[in-house]
Amino acid sequence: MKRDKSIALFEKAKQYFPGGVNSPVRAFRSVGGTPLFIQKGKGSHIWDADGNEFIDYCGSWGPLILGHANNKVVDAIKTTVENGSSFGAPTALENELAELILSNNKYIQKIRFVSSGTEAVMSAIRLARGYTKRNKILKFEGCYHGHSDSLLVKAGSGLVTFGNTSSAGVPESFVNETIVVSLDNEAAVKQAFVDFKDQIACIIIEPIPANNGLLLQRKEFLQFLRDICTENKTLLLFDEVISGFRIGFTGAAGYYNIQPDIITYGKIIGGGLPVGMYGSSAEIMSNISPEGNVYQAGTLSGNPVAMAAGIAQLTECLKPNFYKDLESKTQFLISQIFLNCKLQIANCKFFSIGSIFWIAFTNAEHIRTAENIDVDSMKHFRVLHKELLDRDIYLGPSGYEVGFVCEAHTQDDLIKTAKAFGEALEIAMQ
Ligand SMILES: *Cc1c(COP(=O)(O)O)cnc(C)c1O
Repeated sequence: MKRDKSIALFEKAKQYFPGGVNSPVRAFRSVGGTPLFIQKGKGSHIWDADGNEFIDYCGSWGPLILGHANNKVVDAIKTTVENGSSFGAPTALENELAELILSNNKYIQKIRFVSSGTEAVMSAIRLARGYTKRNKILKFEGCYHGHSDSLLVKAGSGLVTFGNTSSAGVPESFVNETIVVSLDNEAAVKQAFVDFKDQIACIIIEPIPANNGLLLQRKEFLQFLRDICTENKTLLLFDEVISGFRIGFTGAAGYYNIQPDIITYGKIIGGGLPVGMYGSSAEIMSNISPEGNVYQAGTLSGNPVAMAAGIAQLTECLKPNFYKDLESKTQFLISQIFLNCKLQIANCKFFSIGSIFWIAFTNAEHIRTAENIDVDSMKHFRVLHKELLDRDIYLGPSGYEVGFVCEAHTQDDLIKTAKAFGEALEIAMQ
């Protein structure tokens, strides 16, 4: 497979950007080799600068639930941008996207659009603190919530890949406001409420943790968090930047039927353009400026082109059987992969929910905590990733990242993928 152009582009990029990239995991450090520079995408396929074609399961890390350059999304963007790209004044498109979301999601009453998942979570934390008049927050090891200071405390995703537990540049005083405990550990959460009685503004969790492997939680644990928050007048914040509009239109809240106090969204909501959102009850949201005294603003918030892309994408998601079909495709892919393995592969498993899948090298029936991921097993992923690329299958370049099936994946794509996966897995497990 030719890589010359990607290699040359990466050499140039290294002169411009730290590590040659604008977001760390893109640098391929955890799988080795050179990142592919992508030239175009259509449907479930992407093409790199050397003209190689891949079936894509990264989907821009989740946003592209319809696939690349979906015609309806592209048309909406074109039509909207013809009339201007930003005004810094309200537009009807913001109402339209809000209406689409709120009329189909009983877990939130009022929302605020922002420009990224990080911004959504950062703002939601400020809201929780402003509303409860408490400073401390509680998060879980193995959940990623973007890169705001309060949350870069033993964060997952890229950070775990690099073997760091937190980031330089985050003041100790910030870290002291963030309590970190293990997932699936009720005793630890209870202890935190004893140690920091009446000080915890919110518990933040990815209800479907999917940034550090796929650490599916017991519903009982999520319900326990709901109950202990209610008892302690602490807010429960579901960070659904990855699970929102992915596990059904109402995300994890709907899947588990648990009512959080605040929910954050990103990724899918913008149809591939930068949009984030946080939402809550009308009462809690009334604390946001200009109605309340929790300040939060954005020059490009509610950007009309991004709103139009979001409307186009979410309209498709609302069609009957949309999520059911995605899940069936995902189950089909996984079952086909194992049919294609000649060897009996005992210590390799796929965990999945809806259209998210994660390959784990383990004998365990469940992996619910970050600590239960065998760091050493990532050596298998390195090989798997390379062997899959050589067979025209593109996965996110880290064994801690999940894969996404999108609407555009065809039966033919899935069969080809399963065959390649079967071969690659046998090599990776040698
Ligand atoms: C991706 C993600 C974020 C960060 O969103 P960005 O748009 O990358 O800033 C936050 N929380 C979760 C759960 C995510 O998956």
